Amino acid sequence: MVRSMSEDATPPSKHHGLIVVIDGPAGAGKSTVARRVAQALELPVLDTGAIYRTVALAGDRAGVPWTDGEGLAALASTMPLVFVAASVARSGRQEVWLGDEEVTDAIRTPHVSDGASRVSSLPPVRAALLDLQRKLGTSGCVGEGRDLGTVVFPAADHKFFLTASTKVRAERRHRELVSRGGDVPSLAEVLAAMNERDARDSGREVAPLARADDAREVDSSGATIDEVVAEILRHVDET
Ligand code: C5P
Repeated sequence: MVRSMSEDATPPSKHHGLIVVIDGPAGAGKSTVARRVAQALELPVLDTGAIYRTVALAGDRAGVPWTDGEGLAALASTMPLVFVAASVARSGRQEVWLGDEEVTDAIRTPHVSDGASRVSSLPPVRAALLDLQRKLGTSGCVGEGRDLGTVVFPAADHKFFLTASTKVRAERRHRELVSRGGDVPSLAEVLAAMNERDARDSGREVAPLARADDAREVDSSGATIDEVVAEILRHVDET
């Protein structure tokens, strides 16, 4: 069970029903860009990576190994995951809850990043989460992930594929971990883990990380967040 909850009784966005998807590898800036685009269009963010991350965390907690596709799929279908959408507008951050525990930070550790990449390569887990993602996004969203343009929302109104050089992506992810505090791996370790995750995401048989034929590629290596967001919004306005 996955729910998307809004704390505000806000009127529907004039973009109600619009589906914008942003796919791409880890560290390309998808989360920040998706949040900003969603705020501008007054649409909810659908962070599909957070869903896979929560399955990995829930597996860890319940003692279901990250290799047990059927066990994790059963867990994914019943886990009480709640996205609190209004907190994005209020604090710029989306809260993720598993039952009555807030797991927003717990799902961002390097250990859970590795687990998310592993559980997401298992076909039963992807199948269990497909309908849930569609239900969450159906009344309009800015979705971010790996296969939204190719598998989850093949008829999305606007598709983007956000990239950046491996070095830039690793530096961004490292800065993000430093800003969260605690035990931080070195930049070289972050780079190695990212390469491993990229290879697994691109090489898996089901729904690999791939640019949809009709997705617009945006390279964020030398661009600021503002420039990337402006390019996406311009494209959404014009087409
Ligand atoms: O985007 P994020 O880094 O939070 O995603 C965590 C992991 O979840 C990725 O490494 C990827 O393996 C997986 N994922 C996926 N399909 C998506 C979103 C995320 O396989 N649509």
